[in-house]
Amino acid sequence: MHSPPPPAAGCAPRKRPVVRRKAGTTPEPAAPGVEHAVSLGTLLEQVAGYLPEGELPAIRAAYRFADAAHLGQYRASGEPYISHPVAVAEICASWKLDAQALMAALLHDTAEDQGITQAELVEHFGPTVAMLVDGLTKLDKIQFSSREENQAESFRKMLLAMARDIRVILIKLADRLHNMRTLDAMASDKRRRIATETMEIYAPIAYRLGLNQVYRELQDLGFRHGHPMRYAVLSQALKVARGNRRDLIDRILATTTKSFADAGIKVQLYGREKTLYSIYRKMQRKHRSFAHVQDIFGFRVIVPEVLDCYRALGVLHAQYKPMPGKFEDFIAIPKLNGYQSLHTTLIGPTGTPVEFQIRTEAMHRVAESGVAAHWLYKSGAADAAAQASTAAWLQSLLDIQNENRDAAEFIETVKVDLAPDAVYVFTPKARILALPRGATPVDFSYAVHTDLGNQTVAAKVNGELVPLRTELHSGDVVEIVTAPHSRPNPNWLSFVRTGRARSKIRHALKVSQQAESQELGRRLLARALLQQGLRIDELTAADWSRLLHWCGNRSQDELFGDIGLGRRVAEIVAARVRLLDAPDAGAAEPLARGALQLDGSEGTSVHYASCCRPIPGDAVIGYLGKGEGLTVHLQDCPQARRLFLKHPQSWIDLSWSAQVGGLFAVSLVVIVNNGKGVLAKLAAAISEHDADIAHVTMDEDSSQPTIELRFLLDVRDRKHLADVLRAVRVHKFVVRAGRAKPRA
Ligand code: MN
Repeated sequence: MHSPPPPAAGCAPRKRPVVRRKAGTTPEPAAPGVEHAVSLGTLLEQVAGYLPEGELPAIRAAYRFADAAHLGQYRASGEPYISHPVAVAEICASWKLDAQALMAALLHDTAEDQGITQAELVEHFGPTVAMLVDGLTKLDKIQFSSREENQAESFRKMLLAMARDIRVILIKLADRLHNMRTLDAMASDKRRRIATETMEIYAPIAYRLGLNQVYRELQDLGFRHGHPMRYAVLSQALKVARGNRRDLIDRILATTTKSFADAGIKVQLYGREKTLYSIYRKMQRKHRSFAHVQDIFGFRVIVPEVLDCYRALGVLHAQYKPMPGKFEDFIAIPKLNGYQSLHTTLIGPTGTPVEFQIRTEAMHRVAESGVAAHWLYKSGAADAAAQASTAAWLQSLLDIQNENRDAAEFIETVKVDLAPDAVYVFTPKARILALPRGATPVDFSYAVHTDLGNQTVAAKVNGELVPLRTELHSGDVVEIVTAPHSRPNPNWLSFVRTGRARSKIRHALKVSQQAESQELGRRLLARALLQQGLRIDELTAADWSRLLHWCGNRSQDELFGDIGLGRRVAEIVAARVRLLDAPDAGAAEPLARGALQLDGSEGTSVHYASCCRPIPGDAVIGYLGKGEGLTVHLQDCPQARRLFLKHPQSWIDLSWSAQVGGLFAVSLVVIVNNGKGVLAKLAAAISEHDADIAHVTMDEDSSQPTIELRFLLDVRDRKHLADVLRAVRVHKFVVRAGRAKPRA
């Protein structure tokens, strides 16, 4: 067994790391008493080149912490796991990222693999490093699993949106680069999947950020692991071609070096071989075989000043004949990601085309490292300053490219991506939806389909039930629970963010309100007719047409709607039927009179008054206000009494059906002796009895030893309420508990 490396005081993870070995590998633990063979030397050397001495101890501490956390864990290659984070940090150091980014790179897999918590990282390394690691852990949880090609762009945007700090993306790219370099140890199906993901997601992100070197390497590795056969054949062909043309390259190099010297231009001249993937792409694009893809070689010319670029171009064009139509000036018109260079293809000594790229030192840095090139550490610079220097870089890009419409577009994309206004979420089938920031599950369901929106009753986010007003975050998997006959809730209008959801909810409410008012109106009229000794379903077509004519309504439904909304009084309409009806109608037997029955299915056409909050079982009475539908009050509600005196004709008798469905809001007042956990215990007692707490207020009077709590609960009926009250009164700290008195 190994002993852990001596940790810095207070710097070792508490948890004993879990030993995990991948099947089919033979881990080789270090010899007893020997530290891991993975050395920090290269990293520290790199770091010493651009960071002040004072930063080194923190980086070493992060290394020791990560090493202890990954102890006993091995990569598929059999190497100790810590070799991976160290390699990732080395890549980051090659981009001259700051100390916090390097620490995060070293720690990036500790949270996910070894259960180190965010709090522990904050404690040891501060909030910024912890935040970076957390960002990386979150990105790791998302897997690009969909085969839909057109999802890739959304997915890339989602990754960028989730990384609030550009360092998270840079470390992630370094992580992916190292994983791609060491992919040989993986099983072939896994290799192919990771290669595809790299080609579709990570290589384009690298390109977008201007990390061209990373972009090319990711593409080449992606090609190699995604299409191993094609890669092998092509690489063999290239090897042969390289041998054949070696002397040609040397000749060109010698001739041009001399020409530049004669012209007095200081240049650095490099021979450059194109990547296999770019050759492959060219073959595909032009439908050519390898033999016909000529320009597999190129040269890069690096000069001190912008003007020298054009002078160098002149020298080259005097030397060899340029190929027509193959000159491009990316200095005057840079590429979207900020890339600048002159490109020209010349016809070499044996008629072979050879490409030259000409650029300044500064352009070269941007070309190879993009955003990272501008992430140069300044000693003593705080995060804000580092961020500001990135912003300054973006601004300088804008200045360089202000003639160029596309440049502004690029800046916009980067800005939007790093401070996104959109969230990207998944359906359970891994489809990605883009929603505005602040969107809720209701917005999500209406974005998927109107029917889904209308039938929404609950939502699960990442497998857990959440309130419908919950704000969604990028990467969330959202699942909507539906019920076939449910309807949109008017409360949704208070929190939805999308115009689409808003207008669909309004429309659905209007439609269902109409249907509900009509149903209520029909019942009110039936009841009023009954009092006249008539049955509604026995009215003849002639009766109806006379009645509608008298009322001025176009249809029965319109008349019912008017009655349901209180625009017409059912008793008056019923009395009219009698008058319009056959002369002997008065002889009919009076039928049983009855109150209108409530069964909880009335929806928005019936309101339960908030002054007294009636629930099933209470003695109730109904007020039919003009255009408002029916409001249910307690019979002894003081407000109801006042209204009754004013409009006695607007009241109807109500009773409860034997089967009332749904939940009804009720107010409780609970007086308690204050103490620790009182509210929590009450809330637990209430929810144990299946009652939902919609709202709590607390009224504390410092002169009193007791406090008054007011709960707004959803209950089924009086019996349910009694159960809840009993459970509340069990607690000794409860002085008094009961239903709130109606507001006067
Ligand atoms: Mn990793």
